[in-house]
Amino acid sequence: MGLQELKNQAEERVAYRGHELGQWRPGSFWQRQANNECRHCGKWVQVDTEPSPNGIDIGGPAVALNCGGGNFHENLKYIARQLGDIHCDSLSHAERKIFEKLCEMDYMEKSIIHGEPVAKVA
Ligand SMILES: [Zn+2]
Repeated sequence: MGLQELKNQAEERVAYRGHELGQWRPGSFWQRQANNECRHCGKWVQVDTEPSPNGIDIGGPAVALNCGGGNFHENLKYIARQLGDIHCDSLSHAERKIFEKLCEMDYMEKSIIHGEPVAKVA
């Protein structure tokens, strides 16, 4: 399989585990390897078009483990606090979507009185 195909497959697999990758970088064998890391938790993934007999073409902790490391949680809490400072009627469409998502994930709730975004910072 070509390097680009492997990168695409790797992106799909780690997205399934909640990771979001940054830029691909060439590995030590740059023609056949590339590395990437999750922007949130730092777990890495490597692809290799010619893995050793015991090796695998897509490997690394980002493939095996879910996202949700400390940084990811802290980032969401930070976003919740920022959104909590905005008045409900001045939320943009995108902010409202994020607000709703953060409510689903239990990082935020609507104020009972005004329906304003309230961060649930634990
Ligand atoms: Zn991650």
